[in-house]
Amino acid sequence: MATERAHAWAADAIRRIREHRRGTPPTPLRPLPLPSARGDIRVYVKDESAQPTGSMKYRLVGAMFLHAIADGAIRRDTPVIAATGGAVAVAGARFARLLGLDFTAVVPAKTPAEVLAGIEREGGRWRPGERPPAAVQEEARELAARLGGHFLDHFADAERAVAGCGEPTIADEIFAQLGGEPYPVPEWIVTGIGTGATSATVGRHLRRHGHPTRLAVVDPENSAYFPAWASGCADYATGMPSRIPGIGRPRTEPGFLPGVIDLVIPVPDAASVAALRRLNGTAGFAAGPATGTALWGALHLVARMREAGTRGSVVLVMGDGADPYRTTHLDPEWVRSRGLDPAPYEADLERFARTGEWRTA
Ligand SMILES: *Cc1c(COP(=O)(O)O)cnc(C)c1O
Repeated sequence: MATERAHAWAADAIRRIREHRRGTPPTPLRPLPLPSARGDIRVYVKDESAQPTGSMKYRLVGAMFLHAIADGAIRRDTPVIAATGGAVAVAGARFARLLGLDFTAVVPAKTPAEVLAGIEREGGRWRPGERPPAAVQEEARELAARLGGHFLDHFADAERAVAGCGEPTIADEIFAQLGGEPYPVPEWIVTGIGTGATSATVGRHLRRHGHPTRLAVVDPENSAYFPAWASGCADYATGMPSRIPGIGRPRTEPGFLPGVIDLVIPVPDAASVAALRRLNGTAGFAAGPATGTALWGALHLVARMREAGTRGSVVLVMGDGADPYRTTHLDPEWVRSRGLDPAPYEADLERFARTGEWRTA
């Protein structure tokens, strides 16, 4: 009887999540104007800030809930615990509320007030981690064990959950949306890596469908992904935190699949900020910092295509929007206080817009 009730709850919870996601339209794919372009190279931005919680993490977290419910790890009274002061916590609170479950995020010190407000807005709770940021995951895991709860471990689980959830992926949407465009099969798709779920999803899609499109990953300073990819040493660690929220990790995570990645482009943080300003300024995209990183990498590829005389399209993933970053990466004072000088990179972008010439270094 109890088993029957548990199965019924799980089936109903899965149905509710699927309905909630089906009610969410595909996020927009918008053209990015290239001032000096001759029209034979098009750049598109996949705007994931249009997800219900403002970030692409909504896809990952929805898939993780589906997975954990099917596994019996989340049941009708299971508190859900996350370890992040980022977009996973906001999406986690959203899905927990949808199912009437308790949600707590253990957040690192210095988590921006905007994110904490987002968690509360979605009906979740947060508590500051008592240990250094690197140990917040352990703390959350222990809290989950104490409460008989489920630890939403996005670095360990998001990639497999997305791969197995059977929902249309970001790659399905991109190819469907490019269908009516002049170059419907892009030359490149560009994204950053946090958990690795998005790059793995795109890379698998390209192989399964036999597309010639290549996958480029942009990687910020201090991240382990570029050195791991360049050296072939899969368990590389820098031990240093990334300054670009959502992407770059002090160590490679299990979702990082170097075999599906064609190119990793290291991007200086000041260049990410310069590109972020351009997006939020003349380009008219209210994007977050990781999209600046992706734009820098995408323009590098556009320049290479121009040089080679290749026509076609480039798609970059805009993982989240500008709002959480008004008092940080979008604030010149904050940028200065971090010792970042975007000016030389802004000059590079300006020259590229005017002449189509890309910096050589
Ligand atoms: C998480 C994140 C990414 C990277 O996605 P993963 O699938 O976790 O690798 C990119 N951009 C932003 C803004 C993110 O939050």
